[in-house]
Amino acid sequence: MSKEYIRYFKVIGEINDIVNKSNTIEEVFNEVVKVLIDSLHVKYATIWFKDKNDNLHPYYSICPNDISNKIYKEDEGIVGKVFKSNSSISFIDFEANKEEEIVSLYKGIDIKSYICCPIENSTGVVGAIEVISDSKLFNEDEANIIEMVATIAVLKIEDNEKYQQSWENKEKLITIKDVCKSYKNGDLVTQVLKGINLDVYKGEFVVLLGESGCGKSTLLNIIGGMDSLDSGSIIFDGKDMSHPNEKESTDFRRYNLGFIFQSYNLMPNLNVKENLDLIADLVNDPLDSLKALELVGLKDKAKNYPHMLSGGQQQRVSIARALVKKPILILADEPTAALDYETSIEVLTVLEDVYKKGSTLLMVTHNEEIAKMANRVVKFRNGKVYEITINRKPLKAKDLVW
Ligand code: ADP
Repeated sequence: MSKEYIRYFKVIGEINDIVNKSNTIEEVFNEVVKVLIDSLHVKYATIWFKDKNDNLHPYYSICPNDISNKIYKEDEGIVGKVFKSNSSISFIDFEANKEEEIVSLYKGIDIKSYICCPIENSTGVVGAIEVISDSKLFNEDEANIIEMVATIAVLKIEDNEKYQQSWENKEKLITIKDVCKSYKNGDLVTQVLKGINLDVYKGEFVVLLGESGCGKSTLLNIIGGMDSLDSGSIIFDGKDMSHPNEKESTDFRRYNLGFIFQSYNLMPNLNVKENLDLIADLVNDPLDSLKALELVGLKDKAKNYPHMLSGGQQQRVSIARALVKKPILILADEPTAALDYETSIEVLTVLEDVYKKGSTLLMVTHNEEIAKMANRVVKFRNGKVYEITINRKPLKAKDLVW
């Protein structure tokens, strides 16, 4: 048996182990793709599932582009054709084929080799897995392995399980294109954002996840008009906000955004209601301060001063303060980082209620468990979007454990 063969055998073994150990299909694919990246030449991967309208929708992608809103119907695009025929399509030497459909979807990405395999369980074909190499050509054995992986990984998909969310009618709120940002410190230039592409849709809860220092807060601050971008663009609700002037930036923050930070920033000499009234006075059609406090379960604390409240309660006041503006978008930067586990869950439950009532919520965290609450998780690595996962079944705040 050749060395290559033994290597492939190991890969299949690893995949098998992952399937046995994982509890959900998300876990399976997250791990499986890592093995493919480490052991074959896979650089980018997308996993497509049938949604509840029987359209194919990407629920997981490792790709610097945000393709979350792309939908294929049966027989449409390579993915749709693979889905319909239940057989793989490969362009081992992509240069020689240049399929327009793939080129437009993965615009800006170097594609050397491309494979798309059907994902099938006992009920039939449920989706497809696409893998791309940007450097080497897959060989026939590797192509077979990838096909085998799609077959094994699917063992975890329960019968008839369909992708829960439907993306039709989702309206874009923010379009972020090729955003770059660097900071200068004397002669030292640190490039913090290296070309971010991301769309945020109305009514969704997006988590920006990643290790400390990877640029999450910088992006949040740029979206929130608190920092500027060097190049690229940001469109907010149809308006170009890439380079707003001072007044545009202030108005934008005042009328559209609610902010929640790790520190609560409440005025110590004002009581809870007065802290909210202060913000209510700035906008045209505020939510009544007492109503906002009721939403976070603190109406009875209206007359208390911040120092009389616990950390979790103060953070709930800061959420109420954000709500008073009836913001189009709520930006939250590590809102529970200063809180213990139980208080964090209490605060996250309030945030969960808020977005379920229709707000769009963009939250930065380094906590992978908290990310499980979101509709979409955008993983950052070293100033770039590395991976986007759509949670088919977001967890409830009260079910998070860390
Ligand atoms: P994260 O939110 O992922 O922890 P940040 O966006 O806060 O990361 O920071 C990314 C990098 O940018 C870090 O290395 C940080 O030191 C640097 N940085 C952030 N803000 C500034 C600034 N105003 N001046 C210089 N460097 C900064």
